[in-house]
Amino acid sequence: MIKFLDNKLFRYLSIFLFLNSSILPLKSSSALAAWAINTNGVLELRTKSNSNLKAYFQKANQIYGDRFWVDFPGELKNPRIIEGNGPIKEIRLGKPNRDKTRLVIEFKEDTYLKPLTWQMVGLDENRWRIKLFNPKYSFKKIGEGLVKKNKANKSFINKKNNNYGYLKLPVVKRNKFEVVIDPGHGGPDPGAIGIGGIRETDVVLEVSKIVKNLLSEKGVKVKLTRTRDVDLDLPPRVSIANNTDADIFVSIHANASRGKRRDINGLETFYYRGWRGRLLAKRIQKQILRVSPGSPDRGVKQGRFYVIKNTRMPAVLVEIGFLTGRLDARRLEKITHKKRLAYAIAKGILEYLDKVG
Ligand code: ZN
Repeated sequence: MIKFLDNKLFRYLSIFLFLNSSILPLKSSSALAAWAINTNGVLELRTKSNSNLKAYFQKANQIYGDRFWVDFPGELKNPRIIEGNGPIKEIRLGKPNRDKTRLVIEFKEDTYLKPLTWQMVGLDENRWRIKLFNPKYSFKKIGEGLVKKNKANKSFINKKNNNYGYLKLPVVKRNKFEVVIDPGHGGPDPGAIGIGGIRETDVVLEVSKIVKNLLSEKGVKVKLTRTRDVDLDLPPRVSIANNTDADIFVSIHANASRGKRRDINGLETFYYRGWRGRLLAKRIQKQILRVSPGSPDRGVKQGRFYVIKNTRMPAVLVEIGFLTGRLDARRLEKITHKKRLAYAIAKGILEYLDKVG
């Protein structure tokens, strides 16, 4: 019933601090009824009776620390993020897909965990506990003991420097491909305006520029339809692509919901026609979801947007999240998340070029 994926890894680092014990009741049809993390590093769960839980562990990579998550049947009403303390960076309650609830505990980068010793214990038909960390050990600071003394850890740290995990970008033939990236909107048209005044035009330009750099490093020629906050009509965006004979066209946008509903979050990718456009959309959608845990998968869809309808090459329009959504907007403000999304888009593009190009 409980399985751990990829539990090879553990990290020796430090921690200080305690967690405040807190019980947060949840109202929804989710099997998760309540959870708490107490000061001994024990996660306690209360569920519907005889629920089927699945627990997972993922080792740290370049952009995330270690993380642990539990999937429960049933869907939450309100996905949310709770800021952690002590060794815990944040706790997220999400719905990864229909009829599922996911509780994610993301640890700070310097946390010392021993996932090989973890065991989810059923106390009752509706109560569970698992010890995730030992506050005693987590008091040791980097360089004061554990880290310096332990050789195994040293080699791990060295290894980590070369470990890009799933973000390792595929290699494609250099100087063979040309891609047009189209940051949506610009100038007098800021696109969606989200929580706290965050503007689509700025977010998508930033992400697009990083995508360009990542692809250029891989020997892919990239043209941006705009590099500044300028007014650019739709037809010139299309002609840039059609005139340069680009292999693919990728328009990057961020969403807003009608009525600015904060509970609407998620990512989606549109194509207009053809299996190539659909494949490109699928590759990108898969990757952007991986860096947006908890945010709903709104799917790969056909759309009749001007820029993907009138470009002659496989073309997609990516919506990287809702600027009006509580969960997405908070992330889209941060440069770390914009970098993750850019990596994800670049990865989807390179996978496509590698396969089809
Ligand atoms: Zn837009």
